[in-house]
Amino acid sequence: MKGISECRYGGPNDPLVMEIMKQKGLSEVPLYRSDSPKAEKFDLNACMERWMVYTPERDGPVNSEQPEGADPSHISELIKAKGLAVGGSDVGFAELTPIMINTGFEFEQRYIISIIVEEDYSKVLDGALAVEEEAFEVYVECARTATELAAYIRGLGFSAIADHNGTGDVQAIPALYACGMGELGKHGSLVHPEFGPSFRPGFVITDAPLVAAEPNIFGVQNTCETCRLCEQNCPPGAVRASDDFIITEGVKRWQVDIPTCYEASRFRDEYCHICVDVCPYQHKANGNPERRDIYKSVMKRRKQAGYRTPAWFIEDEAKVLDGSVG
Ligand code: SF4
Ligand code: SF4
Repeated sequence: MKGISECRYGGPNDPLVMEIMKQKGLSEVPLYRSDSPKAEKFDLNACMERWMVYTPERDGPVNSEQPEGADPSHISELIKAKGLAVGGSDVGFAELTPIMINTGFEFEQRYIISIIVEEDYSKVLDGALAVEEEAFEVYVECARTATELAAYIRGLGFSAIADHNGTGDVQAIPALYACGMGELGKHGSLVHPEFGPSFRPGFVITDAPLVAAEPNIFGVQNTCETCRLCEQNCPPGAVRASDDFIITEGVKRWQVDIPTCYEASRFRDEYCHICVDVCPYQHKANGNPERRDIYKSVMKRRKQAGYRTPAWFIEDEAKVLDGSVG
C-alpha cells in the first residue's frame, strides 16, 4: 500500500523552515541554535539524536512460530498490555489506509498500532524550557516504546515495523484518529479524552491480526465550533477560524497556517506550545482536579502576559506582572 499524504516534518531541515531562514538572512533556525543560552541548559539537537538511535532497530527478524490458536482479540490484548508495560500511556489499533502513510513510503502490512506517551502538563508552570524539554524527551520515549513493541510483536511471529520521529513514514493524525485516540481539535493536535492534547505518538505497522478500534468521539469538534481559546492565544494568529476547515475522508480538519506558525514556533529561541496548553481539554473530559488547577494557573498567567504574547511561560513571573515581556 502506497502512501498519499504530504508530510511536513517541521525540523531544522524542513524545506519551508530553511526557506524562511534564508529569507530572514539567518544561518541557523533560532529554536535549534546550538550556541544560544537555552542550549546550555537543554541540548535540543542532542535530544533529537537520541531518538535516531532507535531507527536502525525499527525492523528485524520475525519468529517463525506464532502463538497457537491465537485470535485477533487475544493478540490485541497481548499487544496492548505489552505497549502499556513498556511505557505507552495508551495503545490502539486500526486497519492501515493510504492516508496514514506519507508519500514516498509503502507497507504490505494490514494494521497500524498507535502507541502514545503522555506529556507532563505541569511542566507548563516551569517555563518554556521545561515544556520544550518535556516534549522532546517524550518523543524519545515514543521512539523507544514503539521500537520495543515492534520487537515484541516480531517475537510473537508477526512482522512489525516501528515508526517515530526518527523514521517519519506515518501521517500521525489520521492514524491516531482511526486508532480511537481521540478527535482533532482546531489547534491541529489530536485530543485524547484522558491526556487532552498533551501527548506524543509512536506507531507500529504490523500483520498481526488485530481488532480495529472505532473513532473516539467525545464532543471536541462540537466544542471547537464556539471555543476560540487556541485561536485567540496563538501569537502569530496561525490557528484558523471555526468555519475555515476542510473535510478529509469524512473527518473535519482545521489546518493551522504552517508558515505563520513557524514564525513563533521555530523562529524564536523559545519553544511554542501555547495552543495546546490553553486547550480546555487539558481537564475538560478527564475531570482531573489537579490538571484543572494547572489550567487555571496557565490561563491566569496568559491573561497577565497578554493573550498573544509569545513568551508567556517565562521563568521570571515578575516580568509578566510588570509587563516587560513580549
Ligand atoms: S505552536 Fe504556537 S504558533 Fe504554532 S499554532 Fe500553536 S500557538 Fe500558534
Ligand atoms: S482550545 Fe478550544 S477551539 Fe482550540 S482545540 Fe481546544 S477546544 Fe478546540
